[in-house]
Amino acid sequence: MSEKQTGTPGFGFATLAVRAGQHRTAEAEHAEPIFPTSSYVFENAAAAAARFSGAEPGNIYSRFTNPTVRTFEERLAALEGGECCVATASGMSAIYACCAGLLKSGDHIVSSRSIFGSTTLLFTNYLEKFGIQTSFVALDDLAAWEQAIRPETRLLFVETPSNPLTEVGDIAALAKLAHAQDSLLVVDNCFCTPALQRPLALGADVVIHSATKYLDGQGRCVGGAVVGSKDVVGQGVYGFLRTCGPTMSPFNAWVFLKGLETLEIRMQAHCASAQKLAEWLQEQPQIKAVYYPGLPSHPQHQLASLQQSGFGGIIAFEVAGGQPAAWKLIDATRICSITANLGDTKTTITHPATTTHGRLTPEQRSEAGISDGLVRIAVGLETIDDLIADLAGGL
Ligand SMILES: *Cc1c(COP(=O)(O)O)cnc(C)c1O
Repeated sequence: MSEKQTGTPGFGFATLAVRAGQHRTAEAEHAEPIFPTSSYVFENAAAAAARFSGAEPGNIYSRFTNPTVRTFEERLAALEGGECCVATASGMSAIYACCAGLLKSGDHIVSSRSIFGSTTLLFTNYLEKFGIQTSFVALDDLAAWEQAIRPETRLLFVETPSNPLTEVGDIAALAKLAHAQDSLLVVDNCFCTPALQRPLALGADVVIHSATKYLDGQGRCVGGAVVGSKDVVGQGVYGFLRTCGPTMSPFNAWVFLKGLETLEIRMQAHCASAQKLAEWLQEQPQIKAVYYPGLPSHPQHQLASLQQSGFGGIIAFEVAGGQPAAWKLIDATRICSITANLGDTKTTITHPATTTHGRLTPEQRSEAGISDGLVRIAVGLETIDDLIADLAGGL
């Protein structure tokens, strides 16, 4: 766990992305070092005792203290504008650590229905086993959120823009609802990253990341993070990580912190290409619908313009002809990689109904709006005209 570096306010996003969290060692290295060590040596027995008791800060054991991981945590905390960040082994372990660290049996979650498939299963198959119930509501229906809240509700969970339909939720309004009920608003900020959206500034209490996606940005490592206040993340979530151990490795932390250095310019490039592709897709007769917050036809285009500084790199669209047509298009592309990952320099294309959302029941899928003709593209950094030509060939 790390607290945001003090003395950095006033710096721009890109400066923090390149510089925050680095503490140069006596070797005077320019780039951040990787510390592949499981434990640390104390000068004497009394120093060891002071570390373990918490009387003295410092490294103890890499399950919960590692300098490379700490650099990543401080950098991401600075970018999200949070006091504290806890890095985790994956995005799913970030969500699990958040729920397990902050909730107890008998507590209740209200969640958007349009969330990552594994997050739905975490809530329904695992948290449920330990007496934590979840009610699912439509992301854009504030009245439904309000109605679903119970006296024992402690957490509101939202992913915005959502996967794969890019629906946009009103973070400030949801934060108000949560706080009126003594609950926390948790936002999965995977699709936007802090380069495009800063949920804490809009009133959210906790930000979740799958670092696997845009924070890495080049499809190399799996990791996650939880960002928020000292009280919430620094206590509850950090305590869970320290004891239960879904820890990020120092090597992965190094890959992610180098990824953060180019996050802003990468996100701007993803946004520019996605906008062009979405506008082109909209004009194709074989495409029934295009879901991209940057299109004026998107139902929450206005809200996205207000709460995001860019519309992101993910587009979903519906091909006429259902699953056979969607698979045919996917198989005909030559540049796009057929993989469920997203947030890579390489453009990826996937069929949500049979991959990311394939373990949901048909009813859950149709409630989430995942039709058989739906295709999701995570626009990478290739030349956009090549991508358009690739899809044109497929259609
Ligand atoms: C990928 C993803 C996750 C899970 O992250 P992992 O790193 O794969 O465990 C959670 N939320 C969203 C929105 C994602 O895209």
